[in-house]
Amino acid sequence: MQLPSSLLENAVAQFAKLPGVGKKTALRLVLHLLKQDVDDVQHFGETIARMRRDIKFCQRCCNVSDGDICSICANSQRNPRLICVVENIRDVIAVETTQQYNGTYHVLGGVISPLDGIGPDQLNIESLVQRIAREETEELLFALSPNIQGDTTIYYIQKKIAHLPCRITTIARGIAFGGELEYADEMTLARSIANRLPVQQYVK
Ligand SMILES: [Zn+2]
Repeated sequence: MQLPSSLLENAVAQFAKLPGVGKKTALRLVLHLLKQDVDDVQHFGETIARMRRDIKFCQRCCNVSDGDICSICANSQRNPRLICVVENIRDVIAVETTQQYNGTYHVLGGVISPLDGIGPDQLNIESLVQRIAREETEELLFALSPNIQGDTTIYYIQKKIAHLPCRITTIARGIAFGGELEYADEMTLARSIANRLPVQQYVK
């Protein structure tokens, strides 16, 4: 793509670094900014820079935070003895959006994946184990993606806390709501049958 200005070209190159943004989209975004007020664009740039510079991670659960402790951990209405283990911050947002969960979280920062060179030491697992012992956690709810990496991670953590009196649960796995039974893969269908539920429990 030949652009008539190196300033424009630099800006396009920066936008094109974002996930899911190609050169064409990047150019469209940059041309949009070019039409805006100089002050507005300045504010836009500063907001992004400030977010990156000032954001913190909660010392307790590793969620993003404005202070040392995030707003979820600081909320006394939430059950501190229940911890939901998630892979990343997007998963915290997804669970929060359901408005069905009233405990706290622990953000691992990924899952164990030897093929990608990610071992337990690169994840926030040690802090989780210490936290469960310190806070006398009653239940650890795993909300990890149902795949080999997720299961490996659950298995590893479960072994690490086997000596602690903490109930370990996982989110239900089965047929997606609105899904067609005949298109479900064998493993999903098998798990759905093995983990069947009384109808009153979920048809409301
Ligand atoms: Zn927190």
